[in-house]
Amino acid sequence: MGMAVILTAAVLLSGCGRREPTLLRKTDTAMGTIVSQSIYVTRSGSHPESPTEAVMDAIRSLEEETLSWRLETSEIYRLNSHEETELSPELSEILQTCLKVSEKSGGAFDVTIGALARLWNMDTWAADSENVQLPGEEQVLRALPLCGYGKLLEENPSWQDAASAKLSLPAGMQLDLGAVGKGAALDEIAGLLAEREEVTGAVISVGGSILTYGEKPDRSSFKVAIVNPADTSGNIGYLELQGQWCISTSGDYERFVEVDGKRYHHILDPHTGFPSESGVSSVTILSEDGLLSDALSTACFVLGAEEGMALAQNFGAEALFVDNGGNISMTEGMEQYFHLY
Ligand code: ADP
Ligand code: MG
Repeated sequence: MGMAVILTAAVLLSGCGRREPTLLRKTDTAMGTIVSQSIYVTRSGSHPESPTEAVMDAIRSLEEETLSWRLETSEIYRLNSHEETELSPELSEILQTCLKVSEKSGGAFDVTIGALARLWNMDTWAADSENVQLPGEEQVLRALPLCGYGKLLEENPSWQDAASAKLSLPAGMQLDLGAVGKGAALDEIAGLLAEREEVTGAVISVGGSILTYGEKPDRSSFKVAIVNPADTSGNIGYLELQGQWCISTSGDYERFVEVDGKRYHHILDPHTGFPSESGVSSVTILSEDGLLSDALSTACFVLGAEEGMALAQNFGAEALFVDNGGNISMTEGMEQYFHLY
């Protein structure tokens, strides 16, 4: 009896007290990729800026002030100019997580590969795929010794135990946070949405990294499609999710060129200096943490399915692999979310 009364009261309250959330949509570009947003809001909040604008601003300032290797305004640019730099707490935390993933992946993931990445110049492939000049083996072998997270730690022995916020790069080293920028952006966005009580749910994608947040007005689950690497116009299946998650995919179809009939993609094996050849076509990582999901997707791509799954689980994340033959494998925990088409 008492229970029935409470239930009726709750239904009445939600029936007249709340308005149905409205959907804000926006597609724009930042971090060299497409940002696509769907945000549900109940009413206009106390912030003067709309949440979709605030999200774009957050991504752009993360790029301009912190992560870009190209913009002179960023901390990474300053580090790469070989100035000793007092790191912001934000970049410190990002780099600490990156180094942890480097250590646990045996160097399969390594943000100190900047010298190699510049040599391969992957960022320009899409714009002019006819005239791509790939580096020769000699050039690659000369750039390899300039890379390695171990060398960064040797140069800064007191940095990792947080004794000093100052970091300086060994001679010739360049940092490249291209593998984690989008994931780091998702973490910022999740924080920003949480501060706005008018936001009840959202799906936001920054390139191949996606954040689900809150809930949809009808409480149905979020469905995040997983692209078929062999035919990117279709999907192999989808993840069915409730609440807050980060999903990152690294795939050989995202950026590649064909030179003399051979296909080269943009994820490098830091041990060889060449695009990795682990037999993986794509990896999707599911994690509560955006930065981790992005770092792990790159690491797992290089490691291959077997070692990659162990690495993901080590970080409390789930992983799904599609190999070059189209075979799908996944961690046990992923099975409850994945639906095959
Ligand atoms: P995408 O940028 O397409 O989402 P990833 O997240 O996998 O793909 O990141 C690939 C980018 O990361 C490359 O363009 C390069 O800048 C950098 N990168 C390539 N290989 C590695 C690696 N083994 N470790 C860390 N960063 C890498
Ligand atoms: Mg990545």
